[in-house]
Amino acid sequence: MKGKLYVFSGPAGVGKGTILKNAITKLPGMKFSVSCTTRAPRPGIDREGETYYFISEDEFRRRIDAAEFLEYADVHGHLYGTLRQTVESALNEGSDIVLEIDVQGAKLVKEKMPEAVTIFVKPPSMEELIRRLKGRGSESAAEQALRIRNAEEELSHADEYDHVLVNDVLDRAVSDFINIVTEHREEKA
Ligand code: 5GP
Repeated sequence: MKGKLYVFSGPAGVGKGTILKNAITKLPGMKFSVSCTTRAPRPGIDREGETYYFISEDEFRRRIDAAEFLEYADVHGHLYGTLRQTVESALNEGSDIVLEIDVQGAKLVKEKMPEAVTIFVKPPSMEELIRRLKGRGSESAAEQALRIRNAEEELSHADEYDHVLVNDVLDRAVSDFINIVTEHREEKA
């Protein structure tokens, strides 16, 4: 039986990565899709081939031309793309796979693969999102300001998703994510 595709989005700083890391360890048979990006690795946070494949813009463009991406988008001034091969091989071997991608990418994936389950995570408030973004200290002030500006636009797409979570308490957001996947697995069984 083929695996199921999950798409997870939310504004920068909302805690997508932390929710996913915690949820995936408790969901056997769920893989994380490692995307390609042209942004620079964050020292101490990013690991080549684990968080992303870090490639040059020329290499990214070559892969676009070679139709290697299921979707790609310009997010906060850098290119990000999901490798078609990563998704297809997971689904064909019967694994579920989750894409952590932005709202533009999510829309493209849902158009191509309407059976994908889309999940959006919101912050408890805009003030809290700004506090978290500033607190993580992984971006410059200009990069933070850009992410705050983009957050409003991203939040306006929440109701296009199949499921919406709020990351107020991390454990609750993680269990909400796990419950959504479990319900879909039970539906399929
Ligand atoms: P970050 O650079 O902070 O890891 O990610 C920035 C944004 O790019 C996040 O909203 C993340 O979900 C999104 N993103 C990461 N990988 C992909 C991808 O492959 N495709 C698209 N469309 N967005 C992505």
